[in-house]
Formats: sequence, C-alpha cells, structure tokens
Amino acid sequence: MPHSTAIPTTVTIEDVVALVRKYARRSDLDMVWLAYDVANRAHSGQNRKSGEPYIVHPLAAAYILAGMRIDVTIIVAALLHDVPEDTAVTLESIENDFGPDVAGMVRGITKLGKLKYRGAERYIENLRKMFVAMAEDVRVMIIKFADRIHNLTTLGSLEEKKRYRIALESLEIYAPIAHRLGMGEFKGLLEDLSFPYVYPKDFERTKTLRDKLFTDAGNYIDQTLKIVRAELKEAGIHYLDAHGRKKQLYSFYQKLIKKNWEADKIYDIVALRIIVEDIADCYATLGIIHKIWRPLKGRIKDYIAQPKPNGYQSLHTTIFGPDGSVIEFQIRTREMHYEAEFGVAAHWHYDERGVKLPAKDIIWAKELAQVQKDILVNLSDLERLKVDFFRNRIFTFTPKGDVIDLPEDATPVDFAYNVHSEIGNKCAGARVNDQMVSLDTPLQSGDVVEIIVDKNRRGPSQDWLFTVKTNQARSHIKNSIKASRLTSWFKFILPQKKKSSKAV
Ligand code: MN
Repeated sequence: MPHSTAIPTTVTIEDVVALVRKYARRSDLDMVWLAYDVANRAHSGQNRKSGEPYIVHPLAAAYILAGMRIDVTIIVAALLHDVPEDTAVTLESIENDFGPDVAGMVRGITKLGKLKYRGAERYIENLRKMFVAMAEDVRVMIIKFADRIHNLTTLGSLEEKKRYRIALESLEIYAPIAHRLGMGEFKGLLEDLSFPYVYPKDFERTKTLRDKLFTDAGNYIDQTLKIVRAELKEAGIHYLDAHGRKKQLYSFYQKLIKKNWEADKIYDIVALRIIVEDIADCYATLGIIHKIWRPLKGRIKDYIAQPKPNGYQSLHTTIFGPDGSVIEFQIRTREMHYEAEFGVAAHWHYDERGVKLPAKDIIWAKELAQVQKDILVNLSDLERLKVDFFRNRIFTFTPKGDVIDLPEDATPVDFAYNVHSEIGNKCAGARVNDQMVSLDTPLQSGDVVEIIVDKNRRGPSQDWLFTVKTNQARSHIKNSIKASRLTSWFKFILPQKKKSSKAV
C-alpha cells in the first residue's frame, strides 16, 4: 500500500513499461512504446547538461508518474513533453500519431516552457501561465510537477545561479500549487529536493536534528505499532495497512521555525498511519487507540467530518504512548489515502483492484485559478507577490461548506463580497461559527461564516472601507457609494414620478 517515488538515476523504457504493466491494459502498452520511439528519435543526439542522453529526462518524468499508477495517456504525454519545443517533430504530427487529447497536454506543457522573462517579471509570468494551464487541464500541471521533480534531482550539473533560481521557484511556486491541488507526495518531493539549494545551512541543521529524532523514535514506533495491530485484530477491525510515516524534511523545518527550533514541541515527527476499509472503521480505530492510550487535549482532529480546504481527509490524534512518548496517529480509508498522496491526480489513478477512483468535483481548482489570475493581473513586484500569494491567505467556509479563500485579517464584509457583490451590498451582520460578530472582526482559517442579508439595505457603509482587506470589496463599496450619490443627485434635479412615490 505505501508507495514511494524513489527516482533511479537512470531510467529505461523497460523500467517505465514494467510499472505501467501493473495497472494498464496490454493494448495501452503499445502507445507507451510508440511514444518512446517518437521521443527517442526526436531527441537523438541531444544531451542534458549532466552529459546523459536527453531521453533520460522524459523517461524519468514518465517513471515518476507510472509509480503513481496514473492513466496511460498522461504517461504518453510525459514521454513526449519536450518534443515540440526542442526537436523538429511538430505538435501536428503528435496529434496525428496520438490524437488530440495527448497533443493537447503536450501543447499545454510547451506553452508553460516558453518563458523568456527575467527576474520578478518572469516569476509572475510563470505563475500566471501555470494557473491558466491548470485551469485548462490539470493534467498538464501533474506532468509539469514530474518534469520539475526530475530536473531538481539533476540540479548539481547546473551553474550555481541557475540552480538557486530553479530551486527557489520550485519551493515558492510549484510546491504551494501542488499543496493546493492536494498532491502531498509531489509537494513533499518538490520541497525536499529544493531545500538544500535554497537554505543550505538550515538544511544541514534540520537534517541533523531530524536524523537524531528518527533514531530515537525507531524503537517506540515499532512497539506502538505492534500493540495497535494486536488490538485491532482482537476488535475484528480489518486494517489494510499500519505503518510509520516520517515527516518530510522541509515540512519539519517549517514547524521548527514556528516553534523557535524547539524540536521537542513537535509531536508529528513520526506519525503512525492506519488505513482501514471504511469511515466507520476509522472512528472505531480511533476509539481503540484512545482506549489503550490517553489522548492529548486539543489534538484530536476530525478532518473526515471537516476536510481541509485542499480536500484532505483523515482522523488525527496525538497520544501518550509507551514509555511516555508522544505519538500522532493518522487514520484514513484507502480512498482518503490516495487523495492525500495524489490530490487531483487521484482522478487518473488506478488502484490495486484496477479501479479508477470516482472523479471528484474539481471546479474549485478552476475557480481558484480565476481568482489567482485576477490577483496576478494587478501585481507588479515580487515582494508583494510573495506576501500576498499563498502564505498569508486564510480559508473560510460558507455554511454549505464552500471554501472562500481570503487574505489574512479579512472581515465578514470581504467574505460577503467574495460570495457575491449583492450579498456584500446588502450585508447587515455576520455569524462566525454560530456567534454574532461585528462586521470588522478579522476572520480566521477554518471559520464558518454566515452573512445576514437585509434586502432593504440601501448599500454599503463608507466605514467598511477602513477595515476591508480585499480590493474586490473595496472597489465594490466605492462603486456602490458613487452610484448611490449619483442616484440621489438625479433624484434632486429630476422631478419624482407620481407613481413611484407611494403615500406612507
Ligand atoms: Mn522537461
């Protein structure tokens, strides 16, 4: 069940086919071979900076994706992804050989690759293109991640400046997008491969610290797992897998910074992950764990009933385990596990039974792309981009569970305008997590916000301009005030129609 994307140094087409064979039909394999032939011939004579033949790169990208048991059309597009840009073979001929679907993906990747911008300009342009590509076809991003992950493993052969630029871009742009798409596995790889190039000193410090903690943890992890397995068996709960998961390096680093480098305040350096058949078993397993060990207060999280904004689902609990150790458990179903590892890519993933997971609604990804596009159009410098973009955003929810993505300290008024301009204009009050709050209250991630609308309200209050955080709200408020001033001015100079002025 647990899979890993270990990337071998050199990949052959036989390696890729061996992986694809595990889940695809025999007839699909022909397409993979054909794509390899086309790419291999097109790239022949080309070498990478590392000196290897170029074909090694598309093969590695395809290999990473095949390790995720992903749809064959995506593997084929990955094999061909650099062909139109770097060789004489055209998109038209790819379309003739492989059809419009594969050609469309390759076109999307080629578009992303054609970036001639420098500095901040390039950075923003990059982001914008990525969001456009993502909105058009999320599969393009999935291939782009695999492409970038392989490039990161071979950064060593590039000159230092370029190395830093690519690593930084992966850390600041690619990883957050992978995260937002729920692709935990890719996010982790992008971060951990970039980390040493971007923050070399912190990387060393973090690694030393983590290695020591892992060594210390080894014993009680095995011990704890043994006890849990026995108890689950006794209770008749069939688990598909129970294993220890080591926290990824960069994510450990982020926690360390938050906790002032006090490693003993980090409880999930190793988590124990239990994968069961269904949701009922998730809760039953949680009960069993709490029966054996005492849970830490405030550390029980039900992301099944309330998934994270990127769709992540699991039950988390931290317990006082054997020998006074503190351990986090993560309990989930097989489907939740795939979603957590692959995110949107789970749509194109085949599980061990050869079943494709049900397509989840990915409209939110398109909406997100639109929102980000709007933000980016108004951006002019890198610093603001970094501040505004992913870091300082909060995710709030409508009572129906829709995610509203806002900047930090946004108010219920920002929320209302984000839902609809009319909701904003008619906003009369707000309930946050079932409590009435004033309209200037800063919202927090995870808040459920209900806007109280007064249909008779004339329009927004000018005071709101001092507390709102989004340009969207600000411009709606200004426009609405301007419009109402005009209306009253017209009312003043134009005689009122008899009909409309009813006697009170
Ligand atoms: Mn490439």
